[in-house]
Parts: sequence; C-alpha cells; structure tokens
Amino acid sequence: MKLSTKFIHGNYDLESTGATNVPIYMSNAYAHKSPEELENIFKGKLPGYVYSRLSNPTVLAFERRMASVEEGLATTSASSGMAAIYMAIKNVVNSGDEIIASTGLYGGTYNLISNLKDIGVKTIFLDEINKETLEQNITDKTKLVYGETIGNPKLDILDIETIGGVCKEKGVVFMVDSTISTPYLINPIKYGADIIIHSTSKYINGTSSAIGGIIVDCGSEKYKNDRYKIFHQYVRKYGRIAFTAKLRSTEARDIGAAMSPFTAFLSLTGIETLSLRMEKHCENAMKVAEYLEKNNKITGVNYPNLKSSKYYDLATKYYQNGASGILTFRLGSKEIAYKFLRKLKLILYLTNMGDCKTSIIHPSSTICVRNTEEEKKKMSVYDDLVRLSVGIEDVDDILEDIDRALKAI
Ligand SMILES: *Cc1c(COP(=O)(O)O)cnc(C)c1O
Repeated sequence: MKLSTKFIHGNYDLESTGATNVPIYMSNAYAHKSPEELENIFKGKLPGYVYSRLSNPTVLAFERRMASVEEGLATTSASSGMAAIYMAIKNVVNSGDEIIASTGLYGGTYNLISNLKDIGVKTIFLDEINKETLEQNITDKTKLVYGETIGNPKLDILDIETIGGVCKEKGVVFMVDSTISTPYLINPIKYGADIIIHSTSKYINGTSSAIGGIIVDCGSEKYKNDRYKIFHQYVRKYGRIAFTAKLRSTEARDIGAAMSPFTAFLSLTGIETLSLRMEKHCENAMKVAEYLEKNNKITGVNYPNLKSSKYYDLATKYYQNGASGILTFRLGSKEIAYKFLRKLKLILYLTNMGDCKTSIIHPSSTICVRNTEEEKKKMSVYDDLVRLSVGIEDVDDILEDIDRALKAI
C-alpha cells in the first residue's frame, strides 16, 4: 500500500461484523474461560486482553495503524505526547547516563529532559546537531540522541540522515519527535531513527478533540551493545524489539499513562484524512509566509521553505512539498505583538497547533514561560515573536484577518 492508503487501511482487518470503523471498546476488563487461560495470558504464553491499562482492542488498532504508516515494528501509545516522551526517554536512560539533545525542542520536552538532572542524568543541549558536534559530544555514557524533526517553535530542521548515520556508527539510540512533520511529510525510519514519537494531539488527531501520544519502535540491533546492558535480557527474548519489550514491562506498566479507547478511536478517524490536511496546511503556510515576508511591519518570518530561512537547504532536502503548517514571525516588541493578537478575529489565541483551525500564540509568555532568558534565546523565542499554526481554512480569510490586525498596529 502507498502511504495515503495506509492512513486509511493500514494494518486493519474488518471485524466479524464488517464495521468499517474500529468499535470503541470502553471496557476495563476482559473475562476469561478458565484460570489457566488468564494465567497463560499474564505469562505472555497466550495472546489476549486482561486490563485496558495494559492493552485494549481499539487502542491496539490505533497502535497497529501507526506502526503501518511509520513502518515500525512495534508501537506503544500513551495518554499524552508528554507521557510518551517521558516513558520513552526513561526507558533508555538512568542515573549516570548522558543525553545529547537539540535546543530547538518543544518547551515541555526541554524542561522534561533538563529535570532528569534530579535523577543524575546529564544532558548536553546543542544548538546545531551535526557530524562534528555529535562526534565531539558522544561519550561512553551517551545513551540517547534526541531531537525534533522540525523544532517547535524554533523550526530548525534536523539533519536526520547525518545524525542517523553517526548514531549508527557509534551505536547510540536516535529518538525523534516527529509531531510537526507527521508521517505524511517524513518517514524518519528511512534515515536511521530508532524511535519515533508523536503527540497525536496535533496533526494526527487533526481536530483537537483528544490528547494522546505514541512511541514507534523501528527495531534496532543497538540494544545488543555494551552501552545498553539493561536491555540484554530483553534482546535475548525479543531481539530487535527489545526497546518495546522493556518499555511494556517497565516504564509503561509502572506509569500507567494509557491511551483511552475513545482517544484511539478519534485518532484513527483523524489520521484517515492526514494526507489531504497536510497538503493544505503546507500550501496555506507557504502562502501566509510569503505574504508576511512582504509586510514591512514584520521581521524574521521563519518558515523553513522560504529562501530566506537558515534551514532552506535542509528543508529542500527533506521537505520539498512543504515543511508543515507552523511559522513564526516578529513584531518589534511584546506590546505590539499583544496589540496585533488582540485584533485577530478568525485566528484563535490558544496553546495548541496542528488543528484544522488556524491558531496563534506568544510563546515567550506561555509555552516557554518556565524557561530562563538564556534558554529562550537558544530556542529562538523572543519577546516579540509569535507562532502561527496555519489551518486549512480558505487562505484568503486567514490573510484578511492578519491584514486587519497588522493595519491596527
Ligand atoms: C504538543 C507537543 C508535545 C506534547 O504533547 P502533548 O500531547 O500535548 O502532551 C510534544 N512535542 C511536540 C513537538 C509538541 O508539539
């Protein structure tokens, strides 16, 4: 199947009823015929459901769909993107270990990774992750290289092929958050990513109707290395999906941040239209970016597919058809930015992105409010910067709204 078909049919067998949508199994528990049967399921000797914190048919259908579209071997869902990120990272790092991460991370993830110092995990944040900086910073203690395919809100494009190559050579796990790029725009497994994470709350759901997260395990031989001794018992039993085997028997089980069956249903419905939506998001974002670039009240319009972008070359390499629907720009001061924001009528002021509805936010006073001034600078978050998540409305209406607000400042 081609990708657009997989979004709709990937890994799904019709139920015996013929229902074309996966039924929502709102059931916590599953009755079994005998104590022996339940014992064997608990021991992993028989397939089956026991309790929906651990697995559920609707959630499994969504996990299988995500494995199909990302070409992964196994997937684990979570109650939010943050829960997915936390348990995926914690599955590989422990006290005394090191992480290399890009500075262009979502604020929540930047904080999560920084907070791991409390359990003795050291993180080296790099402004640019490239061959040189990676090779200089990978040590025997490095367990993880972490980045976002397109950083939020820095919009830096990760040179995923180069990083994947160095991580392969050094035998270090490479984890990417592909929330902004979505499986439609890039397939990180092809470039050497070992683990792909999505906040499904954004483009995958598409209509902002449910919070969720997913961890895609691409399968890897790296867990055999001495660097990953804690995985060896799982490698012996589960081979290339040692990551998921450990995750499901430790972090995911311990934290219990399971995806709701209802969320899985909404996410399955959402992903069916991902191709169409992403095409429109990209097309509208490019038009808005070009429009903004021409206005003299605005500076620093940042959209990776603009020729003026620092990441234009990388965008051309990885995202010829558009680098998603997010862009940022600067208005001169926080006061002017606020004035502009107050004048918008169609564009919603809120903290979210990847919705069909266009929305905007002032990151410095909201999603990055807990970051220090120095961190904000590294994340390219300035006091006069706003982040626009361009929706799929008629672009003329989006431009009209922006134009009116610009005229008022
Ligand atoms: C929103 C977001 C997250 C967090 O996901 P939630 O579902 O809100 O918990 C993580 N990474 C990126 C890039 C995001 O945009």
